[in-house]
Amino acid sequence: MEIVLTVYFAVIGLIIGSFLNVCIYRIPKGENIAYPPSHCGSCGHRLHAFDLVPVFSWLFLKGKCRYCGSKISPRYAMVELMTGIVFAILFKAFGISLDFFASAFLMSILIPVFFIDLDHRIIPDEIVVTGLVAGIVIIVCNVFFPLDIYRGGQWWEPILGMIAGSGTLLAIGLIAAKIYKTDEVMGGGDIKIFAPIGIFLGWKMTFLALFISIIVAGVTSFILIILKIKDRRSTIPFGPFIVVGTFITYLFGWDILGMYIDTLLSRM
Ligand SMILES: [Zn+2]
Repeated sequence: MEIVLTVYFAVIGLIIGSFLNVCIYRIPKGENIAYPPSHCGSCGHRLHAFDLVPVFSWLFLKGKCRYCGSKISPRYAMVELMTGIVFAILFKAFGISLDFFASAFLMSILIPVFFIDLDHRIIPDEIVVTGLVAGIVIIVCNVFFPLDIYRGGQWWEPILGMIAGSGTLLAIGLIAAKIYKTDEVMGGGDIKIFAPIGIFLGWKMTFLALFISIIVAGVTSFILIILKIKDRRSTIPFGPFIVVGTFITYLFGWDILGMYIDTLLSRM
C-alpha cells in the first residue's frame, strides 16, 4: 500500500511541478498564472492536454514543440521531475500527516524561488505572500493538531520561527552592510522568504535551515571559485541555497540537532 501511495504522491508532484513551471516562467514577467492557457514560447500555439503530460510529453516529443519544431528546454521536465521526487521523499519521511502536507506546500513555493532567483536574482513578493497566507493556516491548525516539526513547542512556536528567520537575516544583512559598505550582501527577498519558512519550521529548525543554507552556499562558492566558474568578486544568489537548506532540514533537521547537542554534551 505504501508503494502505491508513494507513486500516487510522486504523480501529484509531477502535476504540481507542471504548474510550478508556469509560475517560474510567468511570475517574474508580471503575467497572470491562470490565463492565457499554456502555449508554445516560440510559435504561440496553444498546447493541448497531450502536450502537457509532465515529463512524458517532453520525452515523447524529443524536447521539441509539436507545432513548430523549436527546442523546448529540458528544464521544464526537470522541474516536474524534481517536484515529483521531492513529494515522494517527503511522503516517505512523514506519511499521511499534517507535516507532510505542510512540507509539500512549502517546497512547492520554494522550487519556483530556486529557479526564479537563479534566473532573475529576485524572490517575488507574490510567492512570499502565498507562503504567509498558508502560514496563517498552519499557525491555526497547530493550535488544534500540533505539528511534529515543532516537537511539542508552544502554540507560538511558528510565530517565533517567523521572527527568528527574518529577524536574524535582517540583522546579518544590516551588520554586513555596515562592514562591507554595500547593501547587496543580503537581498531583501532572502529576508522576506524566511518569514514563511520560519512559520513552517519553527524557531529551532529555522536557525538550523539558515545555518545549513549558509554552509552549502559557502562550499558551493568555494568549489565554483576553485573551478574558475566564478571569481571572488562575483556574487551568487542565496535563494537556491535557502531552498536546499530547508529541504535538508525537513529530512534530517532534528537528527542533525540531536547529534550536535550530543557532541556538545560529550565535551563538557
Ligand atoms: Zn511551437
